[in-house]
Amino acid sequence: MKIFHNFPYPYVNGAPHIGHTFSFFRADSYARFKRLGGYNVLFPQGFHATGEPIVGTVERLKQNDASQIETFKLFGASDEDIKDFVEKGPEFVAQYWMNKWMELLKKSGMSIDWRRTFITAITPHYNKFIEWQYNTLRKKGYVVQGTHPVVWCPHCQSPTGDHDRLKGEGESPIQFYVIKFKLEGGEVLPCATLRPETVFGVTNIWVKPSEEYVVIELERERWIVSKETVEKFKDQLRDVKELEKINSDVLIGKLAENPVTKEKVPVLPAPFVDLSFGTGIVMSVPAHAPYDYIALEDLKKTEAGKKLGVENIFPKKIIELEDYKGIPAEEACKAYHIENQTQVEKLEMATEEVYKKEFHKGRMIVDPFKNIPVREAKEKTVELLKSLEALDYIWEITGLVICRCGTRCHVKILENQWFLKFSDEEWKRKVKECISMMKFYPEEIRQQFVNTVDWLENKACARKTGLGTRLPWDKEWIVETLSDSTIYMSFYTIYHYLKQIPIEKVNDELFDFIFLGKGNLKEISKKYGIKERLLEKMREEFEYFYPVDLRTSGKDLGAESLNILFVPSCRNLGR
Ligand SMILES: [Zn+2]
Repeated sequence: MKIFHNFPYPYVNGAPHIGHTFSFFRADSYARFKRLGGYNVLFPQGFHATGEPIVGTVERLKQNDASQIETFKLFGASDEDIKDFVEKGPEFVAQYWMNKWMELLKKSGMSIDWRRTFITAITPHYNKFIEWQYNTLRKKGYVVQGTHPVVWCPHCQSPTGDHDRLKGEGESPIQFYVIKFKLEGGEVLPCATLRPETVFGVTNIWVKPSEEYVVIELERERWIVSKETVEKFKDQLRDVKELEKINSDVLIGKLAENPVTKEKVPVLPAPFVDLSFGTGIVMSVPAHAPYDYIALEDLKKTEAGKKLGVENIFPKKIIELEDYKGIPAEEACKAYHIENQTQVEKLEMATEEVYKKEFHKGRMIVDPFKNIPVREAKEKTVELLKSLEALDYIWEITGLVICRCGTRCHVKILENQWFLKFSDEEWKRKVKECISMMKFYPEEIRQQFVNTVDWLENKACARKTGLGTRLPWDKEWIVETLSDSTIYMSFYTIYHYLKQIPIEKVNDELFDFIFLGKGNLKEISKKYGIKERLLEKMREEFEYFYPVDLRTSGKDLGAESLNILFVPSCRNLGR
C-alpha cells in the first residue's frame, strides 16, 4: 500500500519561519507513522521561485533598502552573501535560500526523499513540464486569449496576481457606475459609485481641496477628473485627450446639476476624497453614506464651511428600512463612534453595514421609484440614467492592492492576455465531483472549496516580468506563480528518473507517454535514444504513486490556491 503526501512547496525568498516548522512536523510525523504501519510512503519536497517577489527583493537590494538588508541578515545572510545577491541576481538568490531551507530541514530530521527535489522556474526539466502542461491545456481549449480587465501594476507594466501583492490578496476588478453631474459651463463632474439609486439623495459634490485635477475630452464631452484618473482611463482603452490642468479649489462653491432631480448642488471640499479611486470626484449622499455624512459634519465646524453656507445642507433621506429610525448614515456613525472623516477603518465598516442593510431590506421613499425595493430601484435608476445620457463606467479594484514593488495598482483592460478558462462549466462540474470524493479535515472547509469553484472566473495565467517558464507559443509571456503550481505533485513521482535524460530530449511526447500513456514505448525509446526501462519506470512510478493521498497546508492558503490546483489537475490528468 502506498501513501503519497506532501507539504506545499515553499517560496524561497528567505529562510523558514516557525509556522513552516509546525506544518512540516505534522507532515513528517504522518510520514513516519504510516511507514511504521507498513506503507510505502512518498514524502518529497520541492521549492518555489516563480513570480515577482525574488526579483523584487533584488531590486530593493540594488537601492540599498535597509529593511530588505535587515530581513536577509536576520535570516542568516552575511554582507558577502548580500553583495552576491545583487551581482548574481534573482536565480542565485532563490538557490541560496533553497539551500538554506534544505540544510535546516535536514538538520531537523525531516524524512524527505531528497532525490526528487527541484525548484520551479530554475530547474530546466520543470520548465519543460510546464511547457507540456500549457501546450496540452491550449490544445484542449482551456488557455484562451482575450480582452479582460486585470489588476495591473503601472510600474511593473504587468498584471499583479495574488502572490505578487504586498497588500490586497483576493481583490479583483469591479465595474463602477459613473454618474455625470454638469457644471453651468457644461463640464461634466463624473462621480463613480456602486449605488446609482442614491443619486436621488445627493446634496453636494466632493473634491479633494488644493489638488491638481485635469480637464479631459472624453466621448466629445469635457470632463473634470483627478490626474490619477487619466492614466486609468487610458489603461482601460478609453480615448482620452488631456486639455488643461486646473486646481480643484477653482471648483469649490460652483453648482452642478443632478441629472435625475435637476437640482443644483454645490461642489465642496473633503480631505477624505481619494484621488486614485474612481474619478477623484464624489457625489455626496449624507443620509446613506457614512463618509459623506461625517465629511459634511466636519465641514460645518470650519470657517470655510460657514462661508460656503454648509450649515443649510441637510441629509436627504431617500431609503427607508426598519433597522434605522432616523438618518441611516448618522445612526451608523454614532454606533461606530465615528467623530471625523479620518477614522477610515470604522468608516469602512459602517459603510459596508449600511450598504448591505439598505440593499437587502430598504425601500425607496422618493419618486419616481417610491415603494420599490432598493435592489430593483438600482436597476431602474441605471436605465433612467442611460436614457438621460448621464451614465458611464469605470473599472476599479474591490479594495486597495499594492504590488510587491510598492506601487498602487489599478485596473487595466488587457488585450491579447492569456487566460486559464476557469469559468468553464464542464470543468467546474468535474472539479465538484472530485471534491465530493475527497475527505477534508476539518469537514467544515469543504463548503469553502465548493464556493470558490462557483466564483472562479477566467484567470490571467502569464505575466511579462518575474521568474518562470515562458509560454511555449508566445515567449514574451511568463507563466505566473499560481499557474505553474497546479499539477506539480505528479512531477515528484518521476523527477529522480527524468533528470537522467538530457534536457534537449525532454519534450511533450515524453510527458504524454509518462502521464497519459500515449504513444509507443519502443518508438519513443528509439527516436530519442532513451532506454525503454527508464521510460517504463517513470510511467510505472507515476501510476503507482499518483494521485496525492494527503495534503497539509495553512488555513489561509485554503480555498483559492488549492482550487487553482484542483481544477487543472482534474482536467489534465483525468482525476
Ligand atoms: Zn509593481
